[in-house]
Amino acid sequence: MALVSRSPQRPDDLVVEVEEADAEAVAGAAEQGRAAARRWAAAPALERSAALGAAADALAGAAAETTELMVREVGKPVSEAGAEVARGVGILRYYAQQALDPDGETYPGPGPAALLLARRRPRGVAGLITPWNFPVAIPLWKAAPALAFGNAVLLKPSPDATGLALRLAELLAPALPDGLFQVLPGGAGTGKALLDQVDCLSFTGSVAVGRQVAVAATERGIPSQAEMGGLNASIVLPDADPGRAATVVAGAAMGYAGQKCTATSRAIVVGDPGPFTEALVAAVRDLAVGDPAERSTVVGPVITEQAMRRVTEAAEEAAAAGGRVLTGGKTLDGKGWFVAPTLVDSLGPDARLAQEEVFGPIAVVLAVADEDEAVAVANGVPYGLVGSVFTRDLDRALGLAARLDTGMIRVNAPTSGVDFHAPFGGEKDSSFGPREQGKAARELYTSTRTVTVLPHGG
Ligand code: NAD
Repeated sequence: MALVSRSPQRPDDLVVEVEEADAEAVAGAAEQGRAAARRWAAAPALERSAALGAAADALAGAAAETTELMVREVGKPVSEAGAEVARGVGILRYYAQQALDPDGETYPGPGPAALLLARRRPRGVAGLITPWNFPVAIPLWKAAPALAFGNAVLLKPSPDATGLALRLAELLAPALPDGLFQVLPGGAGTGKALLDQVDCLSFTGSVAVGRQVAVAATERGIPSQAEMGGLNASIVLPDADPGRAATVVAGAAMGYAGQKCTATSRAIVVGDPGPFTEALVAAVRDLAVGDPAERSTVVGPVITEQAMRRVTEAAEEAAAAGGRVLTGGKTLDGKGWFVAPTLVDSLGPDARLAQEEVFGPIAVVLAVADEDEAVAVANGVPYGLVGSVFTRDLDRALGLAARLDTGMIRVNAPTSGVDFHAPFGGEKDSSFGPREQGKAARELYTSTRTVTVLPHGG
């Protein structure tokens, strides 16, 4: 079956049309990958490190072209797209060095000459299933550690980011041995076929799919991790500068049209919500919406027509439930999938908009009386990816942060933003399995083997 990927700002612009990889193609790729992985794991670590360094150079050399393709295929504003490509290069360089890190630990043995070691070794073929919203960074923050530690990679990208994944494979090909990094275009069917073949699986995407993937991996007895949705809250305390907090929250909620798992979808305001809400509406209205190829654009299109309808329907439903649409709530003129950044208040924390991820430029302002209520509201959702707190008071920041059920906590910082050298992941429905990125990545892509060596004489 053919798969097409179109530009969200100009849906008549066909970015790529390719055949989906069927089960037979996936099995063939896995066989090739397994052979490549065996040679790769046996190669000196210095060789793997150099290859990843060369992959970084290849991507850096094609940064302008890759940025342009990202703007075109997923509608990411050009400044963010350029930063993502640069991050991709940084990730490859970081894991090029990690290939040379200690690969295990020693433990006290039964005698002074005995050795008791736990050594890391690669799993074999790592399967990656990725979303469209970070089409370079997410595939690379999974593939780079997998490769660094001696695995082969089969990447099944989102259909909506197929062009970028195929280009990434072309760029990396001269740096890596044949069959080591393969891209398998396709949708759910290809993803399921991949799950049947690989030795470990890393998924990023929605909760509904991530759950199925984790169950299928567990049934096969392979380790997996799933990074899924979020409904991230920023808590604004009365001592925070409302204007400054509003500027940061506006960017985190609406940048890239809110299509980040770490986007802010709930602003929880302690005390009088008036000054912050007013500042937030002004800050959101100030954001430049439009052609993602323009340097000044902060909010481009959403990925599909369906995603655009999801946002307007969520605003309509919120209004019907007694919410007040403070700004936005409608689609914008023009050909692409543009929707105005939307803010809603006057809803309770149990309203659907305050409970379910929409994955678009829409956020809700929730007023609470005190910090205890702020914590209860922030934690009162099935997700737990990231939370942030705005205050000048360090004690209150630390006290609040310690009570949030999220995998990541940021003080006076946007919920969005990822440091690839630190562990990344969430709590509750937002994540399953070990953390990814930083040094944490080796948990999924390696297993330990405990080795005992005794002197021959006993
Ligand atoms: P999605 O769940 O629809 O798709 C993700 C991937 O899974 C795609 O490659 C898709 O083709 C594949 N897939 C779909 N059905 C499958 C099945 N039955 N078996 C195997 N694979 C299948 O997600 P999306 O729309 O591409 O991305 C948006 C979602 O991703 C949002 O929920 C967002 O919060 C989440 N996300 C999370 C993180 C994170 O790190 N936590 C990062 C980015 C995006």
